[in-house]
Amino acid sequence: MSPTRHQAVSRVLLRVLLLNLIVAGAKLILGYTTGAVSVVSDGFHSLTDSSSNIIGLVGLRASRMPPDADHPYGHRKYETLAAGGIFVFLVLAVVEIGRSALNRLSNPAPPVVTWFSFAVMIATLAINMAVVRYEGRTGRRLNSELLLADATHTRTDVYATIGVLFSLAAVWIGFPLLDPIGGLVIAVLIAYTGFEIGRDASRILSDRVMIDEDAIRRIVMSVPEVLGCHHIRSRGTIDHVFLDLHVWFPADAPLGHAHQVSHVVKDRLMQQFPQIADAIIHIEPPPSDDSGLEA
Ligand SMILES: [Zn+2]
Ligand SMILES: [Zn+2]
Repeated sequence: MSPTRHQAVSRVLLRVLLLNLIVAGAKLILGYTTGAVSVVSDGFHSLTDSSSNIIGLVGLRASRMPPDADHPYGHRKYETLAAGGIFVFLVLAVVEIGRSALNRLSNPAPPVVTWFSFAVMIATLAINMAVVRYEGRTGRRLNSELLLADATHTRTDVYATIGVLFSLAAVWIGFPLLDPIGGLVIAVLIAYTGFEIGRDASRILSDRVMIDEDAIRRIVMSVPEVLGCHHIRSRGTIDHVFLDLHVWFPADAPLGHAHQVSHVVKDRLMQQFPQIADAIIHIEPPPSDDSGLEA
């Protein structure tokens, strides 16, 4: 990504973060002052949107910081670190909502629902819909996966808020139990987001394979003079992968020549998989039974 496009995406994300925080704050204040569990729950749900904006911003910053003496592999894991922190926050939010919803189910106390509750919820709904449009438009213009994915995610929040409006209407006409039930449904949505964030972070931290071994082997074998390869390993994030492998050359090939061909292999791999940040190629002769060397 070019620096100006980077900055443009960061600026959009920052604006969206601000709007999401306003929406979350309005819902949390309304929910806690009127005792509506479903509104509190929706407020935490909006906070999860802010938190994914924060992960996105940290990730953008980290990808712009080049590797340095302290961090020769780059700074990408800061994004994973942020995701880990947010995972903990989401778990706490789900526990908090679950506790107050169950409390309310066991000793019902109907929340105060006035026209003001509806006005606040409809206003936040309007902001959410504006965010979806804004992110979708700028995401297409800047060709940013990050913004488009965030727009899709925010669209699901619109449905959650509409659900809360229905549960408030149900309380209004005399079904107070629908408030904690609505809160629990949204807690499930938050838990699922938390699960996804935790799963992705654990894949990165545990160095899960990022590019299929056979796909790598096909590219390597397409280079003339290469006899084979093994010990293929890849790790990193979806758009920032480190690859290392052993490539076999004829035992009598001059070192200078083998090295040159190994760079052809590397170029082809990085062309085919632009997500590869670096590839380390160990050159060696094919293993033979009598060499006595560890290949
Ligand atoms: Zn080299
Ligand atoms: Zn080897």
